[in-house]
This record gives sequence, C-alpha cells and structure tokens, in this order.
Amino acid sequence: MQINVSQQLKASVGSRRSYEVSGIIDIAGNNSMVQGEVGLMRTDRGILVKATLHTEVKVSCSRCMSLFNCPLALNIEEEYFPTVDVVSGASLPLPDEPICLAIDERHILDLTEAIRQYGLLAMPMKPLCREDCAGLCPSCGHNLNQGPCNCLSEETEFDMSELSKLTPTNEASVSEWKGTE
Ligand SMILES: [Zn+2]
Ligand SMILES: [Zn+2]
Repeated sequence: MQINVSQQLKASVGSRRSYEVSGIIDIAGNNSMVQGEVGLMRTDRGILVKATLHTEVKVSCSRCMSLFNCPLALNIEEEYFPTVDVVSGASLPLPDEPICLAIDERHILDLTEAIRQYGLLAMPMKPLCREDCAGLCPSCGHNLNQGPCNCLSEETEFDMSELSKLTPTNEASVSEWKGTE
C-alpha cells in the first residue's frame, strides 16, 4: 500500500492530508483486503502517519478448530523519514533510531510492512469463532456448535455401571462367596 508523498514533503510543517485507501496485503498467510483512512501530517523530520484500517484474517477457532473470518482493527501511528530531499534531490541521513521507516528516493511512503506488523500484533492469541463456542466433543470430536452428539447419554450409562461394580455391597458379596468355597 503505497502513497506518493512528494507534495506532502514540500508542504509546511503541520500540514495535513488524508486518503481513503484499500488494498490486498499478506497478513500471516492471508491475502487480506485492508481498507480505511490514512492521515498524513508533515513533521519537521518527515511524515507522521495515523491510519485507521480494517481487515479480516482467516484463523481457526481455538475451541472447535473451524476456520472463520476474524475482523481486525489496526490503528497505526508511525513517523516515516525521507531518504532524499524533495527539493534538492540530495540524499538525507535517516535518524539514528532502532526502527526507522523510510520514504524511498521516489518519495513513496509504503505502508505495507507497518500494516503487516500491526496486523500480526492485532491477531488474537486464542481466537474464538463466537464468544460462546461450544467446542468439540472430547470423545468423538463432533462440533458441538452443530448440536449435541450421541456420546453424552452413552457416557452417563457407562459411568453408572462402573459405579455399581465398586459399591461395597458387591465387594462384600464377592469375598463372602470366595470364603464359602
Ligand atoms: Zn469455535
Ligand atoms: Zn461425542
């Protein structure tokens, strides 16, 4: 997602401009449609970008494993620095900062990498297809969002029979029977 900022670089400090943007960006293996508004403000060093963007990524639910579209809201705020003086064409040194976003020599400000990074940060750690996702049956793997499976009633019967084997009366009768033999 690229914006030519040559006009903006010539503008006076504090001047603003905003753009509606949309484009396909690869976020965590998804080709996601990213849309929203990008505001640019000329600073004394470069261009401050404030963007409010929306996109969707396909993720699998942490409970039922089904794939679903998870909406992401990205609020980007980053300053970009020119590498070339827009008037004289002389190359400019980038500020001495650990992470420095550059505007290239053709005055193109490329938001793609920032969108990708913010997108990865915005992705939920334990995504849920819906707040009350019922998950999968632990015995048969049936997706319980699609209704109950047959395991529940069978499991209850099974537990009852197990329980009756362990009752003291049963054990007593077994030992009595052994004793008489
Ligand atoms: Zn789910
Ligand atoms: Zn089941």
